[in-house]
Amino acid sequence: MELRVLDHVPPGFLDAQAPSLTGILPGPTLFDLPGRRPEPLFASVLLHGNEDTGLLAVQEVLRRYRDQELPRRLLLFVGNVEAAAAGVRTLDSQLDYNRAWPGTLHPEAPEAALMRQVVDYVAQQKPFASIDIHNNTGVNPHYACLNRLEPVYLHLARLFSRTVVFFEKPVGVQSSAMAELCPAVTVECGKTGDHSATAHAVEFVEACLALSHFPEHAPVPSDFDLLRTFAVVKVPRDNTLSFDGSEADFRFLEDIDHRNFFELEPGSEFGALGGEQSARLLVEAEDDAPVADYFDYAGGKIRLSTRTVPAMLTRDIRAVRLDCLCYLMHRIDFEGKRQD
Ligand SMILES: [Zn+2]
Repeated sequence: MELRVLDHVPPGFLDAQAPSLTGILPGPTLFDLPGRRPEPLFASVLLHGNEDTGLLAVQEVLRRYRDQELPRRLLLFVGNVEAAAAGVRTLDSQLDYNRAWPGTLHPEAPEAALMRQVVDYVAQQKPFASIDIHNNTGVNPHYACLNRLEPVYLHLARLFSRTVVFFEKPVGVQSSAMAELCPAVTVECGKTGDHSATAHAVEFVEACLALSHFPEHAPVPSDFDLLRTFAVVKVPRDNTLSFDGSEADFRFLEDIDHRNFFELEPGSEFGALGGEQSARLLVEAEDDAPVADYFDYAGGKIRLSTRTVPAMLTRDIRAVRLDCLCYLMHRIDFEGKRQD
């Protein structure tokens, strides 16, 4: 896969909807757009084809600057236009565009070669900061994710939200590859189709472009709700699941995604087991240590056995299959130490 680099915005791009982008951009494209400050902001959108808030946001920002110079040079990577055309996160034939960056578990994949080209190009331009814009499928607050707890990374995250999540897994994500070059964050803008999500993302991109330098002072702990993901929860491939009460190995609560970012106590219910009642969730620890017991299945109920804060709980079965049921988090301080 050859990376296409454009030094201008092609006609029709600013008004195109994600599913029709392939008519304008035949494949993944990196725009290199001039601006007043030469060290570029790198932004990626549509790494997941059905998450269009990032696209809508950069279209709006570029419309605002149609007749004037950007305050800072912008490197804009528009990712999985093919998946966008199909209205899905990733095509079955593809490696997930946000699991293919350097550090990926699948460096031999064509998508990994593409992302290496992007990183090489961006690295040569001495980037000022990097942002990657996403949506969730469940109900979540808007939050920023980072892979380093250094002051400039925290300052960048705080431009988007006071809720900040530090994570090390999954690997192969844009923000961890770019963190080697400059302050980098992923921002999660809630569900697609929400106008306030786009407005928030526009504000964030504008703030990043307008920022001349990061504050010198240390970030203030009381300005942040800082969490770290400690485990990812998956449904084993061979098990069935439901969110509407219908018969399945895992019958999750219908409103399970309303628990995201709430401090849950041991005993909090996620649903019930069906069938033989022998199914168990797959809980993978971030640091590869064996996970103690986050869940308890007594009486055929699926309950938390440990106090934790879930994120990205979704009732989208396809998203569960492609990624996970949720992440489990704990509060941390700036040193990364658990606070509970
Ligand atoms: Zn995403």
